[in-house]
Amino acid sequence: MQKFSLLICAGIFLFVSCKNDNTTTENSTTDMSKNPLLTEWNTPFGVPPFDKIKNEDYIPAFNEAVKIHKKEIKDVIENKEKPTFKNTIEALESSGELLDRFTNVFFAVSAANTNDTLKEVRKTISPELTAHYDEIRLNTNLFNRVKEIFDQKDALSLTSEEMRLLTETYKGYVRAGVNLEGKNKKRLKAINKRISELSTKFGDNLLDETNDFELHVTDKKDLGNLSESLVAGAVDEAEKRGHDSGWSFTLQRPSINPFLQSSPNRDFREKLFQGYALRGDNDNDKDNKEIIQEMTSLRAERAELLGFKTHADYVLSDNMAENPEAVYAFMDKLWPSALKMAKTERKALADMMKKEGVKDEFRGSDWRYYVEKVRAERYNFNEDETRPYFEFNAVREGVFTLANKLFGLTFKHLNDVPKWHQDQQVFEVLEADGKHLGVIYMDFFARESKRGGAWMNALRSQSNTDEFITPIVTNNFNFPPPTKDTPSLLSFSEAQTLFHEFGHALHGLLSNVKYGALAGTNVPRDFVEFPSQVMENWMSEPEVLALYAKHYQTGEIIPEAMVKKMNEANSFNEGFRTVEYMAAAYLDMNWHTLTDTTKQDVRTFEKQAMQKIGLIDEILPRYRSNYYSHVFAGGYSSGYYSYLWSEVLDADTFNEFKKTGNLFDSELSQKYRKMLSSGGSKTGMELYKEFLGRAPEIEPLLKKKGFI
Ligand SMILES: [Zn+2]
Repeated sequence: MQKFSLLICAGIFLFVSCKNDNTTTENSTTDMSKNPLLTEWNTPFGVPPFDKIKNEDYIPAFNEAVKIHKKEIKDVIENKEKPTFKNTIEALESSGELLDRFTNVFFAVSAANTNDTLKEVRKTISPELTAHYDEIRLNTNLFNRVKEIFDQKDALSLTSEEMRLLTETYKGYVRAGVNLEGKNKKRLKAINKRISELSTKFGDNLLDETNDFELHVTDKKDLGNLSESLVAGAVDEAEKRGHDSGWSFTLQRPSINPFLQSSPNRDFREKLFQGYALRGDNDNDKDNKEIIQEMTSLRAERAELLGFKTHADYVLSDNMAENPEAVYAFMDKLWPSALKMAKTERKALADMMKKEGVKDEFRGSDWRYYVEKVRAERYNFNEDETRPYFEFNAVREGVFTLANKLFGLTFKHLNDVPKWHQDQQVFEVLEADGKHLGVIYMDFFARESKRGGAWMNALRSQSNTDEFITPIVTNNFNFPPPTKDTPSLLSFSEAQTLFHEFGHALHGLLSNVKYGALAGTNVPRDFVEFPSQVMENWMSEPEVLALYAKHYQTGEIIPEAMVKKMNEANSFNEGFRTVEYMAAAYLDMNWHTLTDTTKQDVRTFEKQAMQKIGLIDEILPRYRSNYYSHVFAGGYSSGYYSYLWSEVLDADTFNEFKKTGNLFDSELSQKYRKMLSSGGSKTGMELYKEFLGRAPEIEPLLKKKGFI
């Protein structure tokens, strides 16, 4: 049975499940036997038969998989034998394989290639799934068996991984509220179900609000120095939206940021900026404010029911940080330096605007435009100059080469495997000795059927109980699609995103544990971003760039002078980046440290939260509440700080590589691989200490950010 955790990355949530198998159902009806979600997958490496799965297959498959899982659970409970690790903990862990397989496929497809039918399916099954897992986790008879084993754990001579599985299983039941009685238990189930419904609705509203918006530009000079490929993309978008001419911009990231960086038209910039900021806050039928009010109130109520002071206390008790006080203390340590740096940047930007003869007050929608101006002046750098060196296939080759240098892995393109979209690329991943390691699906381009952001999830997690099951993982992005004339050329930060998500993929691929529930990315929230962020460190090193950053037309390696300029220019605006991110992390913590269920006025609450930390008006939190999908449509509530927490770990780790004098030092990369392969079989701190022989240190991060 999966831990039923969520993986989110840069704006999206997905169910990450633990293990899968090609289980066929014992009691399928004739009809069911034709449902590709329920039958054996005779595909290469057992990948899902995406080409055969139809929209109408999902609901019947879901119902059947739930039915089978219920039966498996019933068998565990009714087992006449005395509870043992094997007949209870392992039996629970191996139950629900079919349902896990289903959720892996469904949530991957419905996030990356959705349609109206799938949205409806999601609306139907999300609360049912929550209710199903609640029923298991809140079952007292089942818990009594688990507890009996847990109580005698020290006498059982379990391996450390078995002990971890037992402890996590036990804790999972307690945290879910199994000790509640009567009407409290009933109330808890109702809350969980309602939160699940609200969360789906939040995500749907956001997707609709993002897609509904359009800025149509008819005068070429309003495009500024936007790169050719992005101009071509805007022409395609305008055509798609029924215009005979002109350029269209949307609220999707590949469209909005370049426009804000390039367009000299202040009004248009403001329109796009406000359009983005007000998604879900337009007082229309897609408004998310009431959802937020209800969700935060329900979360506070649930925390109280479960005996925690706040929702954040509840969530964090299961993380490396342990409690809200630790998170606030950690953030408060960095915030003043970040804010100070952002204020210095604001002054430089406002001065630049004045110098250009604009008399108005400097505002948020001017920020990105003048960052580029300052970069051009100070560093003689324009981000678009570098795009031709970051053609998406070249960058993908870059991450493959890095994985080869560190771990000896190679990647073989698979042409004949089923996909959920024709744009996907699929690769078999091989060990240095040619042994099969796993499969990775990569889906690169933005489209209306895909949620925003970038993320990884597992279609099949690694496990090794009866036999070794190899992992199948996905990487998903929202890169600018290729146009008629140009391939997809990435910005530096988009290239960075590719390295980041690939880090998550490696975490899944290199997994080598016994139990799927502890495999790969099934680790605490504030540890999971570490293996992804660490990859970003390599990508901008001149030595690594030379391996992949090649001009898409000439094949020329990115010139050293340009790299130097780029790295210097990129270090400018670090104050903004940290402040924008941290403001959102504070906002998340503030929402989830509410001690009572009083419904809050969303706009007022957010305003006060931002005033409290002294956020300057020209910077918005990276996510305002109304489009904060991490925490209201995903699994990151009280967890957005995790990226920064993980940054401490990744800066510290990369610093160790640098200290060896070899970015691919084999001894260190082997130790690093060992840590990755351990998945969640130990706590984050235990893993880290085994890896470097000491606790993480914060100084390398402070240095990296230029704060000390
Ligand atoms: Zn991530």
